Amino acid sequence: MKKIVKNEYKKWLLATFCVFIPIVAIYMQETSTKHIIPKAIKVEALKALSYYPELKHTAIEFKFKNDIKKSIMQAQPTFWSLLKAKKNRSYKIFISESFQIEGRQFSTADIPKNVLIGWLGHELGHVMDYRDRSSLNLIWFGIKYTFSDSYIKEAERAADTYAVEKNMDGYILETKNFILNHTDLSEAYKDRIKKYYLSPDEIVKLVEDRDLDAALESEH
Ligand SMILES: [Zn+2]
Repeated sequence: MKKIVKNEYKKWLLATFCVFIPIVAIYMQETSTKHIIPKAIKVEALKALSYYPELKHTAIEFKFKNDIKKSIMQAQPTFWSLLKAKKNRSYKIFISESFQIEGRQFSTADIPKNVLIGWLGHELGHVMDYRDRSSLNLIWFGIKYTFSDSYIKEAERAADTYAVEKNMDGYILETKNFILNHTDLSEAYKDRIKKYYLSPDEIVKLVEDRDLDAALESEH
């Protein structure tokens, strides 16, 4: 009797290994290879990602970098992955570890959590914008972004709009207000934000439109 129980136990143990270990392994591989996030911003990045279920299987690497020109974060497709099919394309989100704006030094660690979540949410908005574009379109996008002011404006507003559509408006507004009300940031940087990005008022308007659309949809 005792032996039977022992055998049952062994079988159960074997079944556990055969079933659960591969599941855990697949899960770990999925999460570790699809989204690579430095420990310092893991909580905030996962929070921002939770608003974009579409990006669950999109490879995104968040990476600290020292020399991002004129900005604090930057999202872009991985160059070599432009040769792959759209669905296999991967992206990088660069984040300045410490950043200098107009000669003053700031550290990403000084940014409040919600502001960081909003910032990352905006970058993920760029990824949403990129993922529907063909590779040729993305190369053309890069050229236009480099040379055309009005194109920067279009791209930045598209990223903000995606984030608002994904219900991240609270975070986006916190980020925006943090920048615009932060006395330590230069006026030149604030002007850049005002020039290219959605204003807090425009975000509020987008939220109203979004909620109206949702209300109309639920009526039908
Ligand atoms: Zn942007």
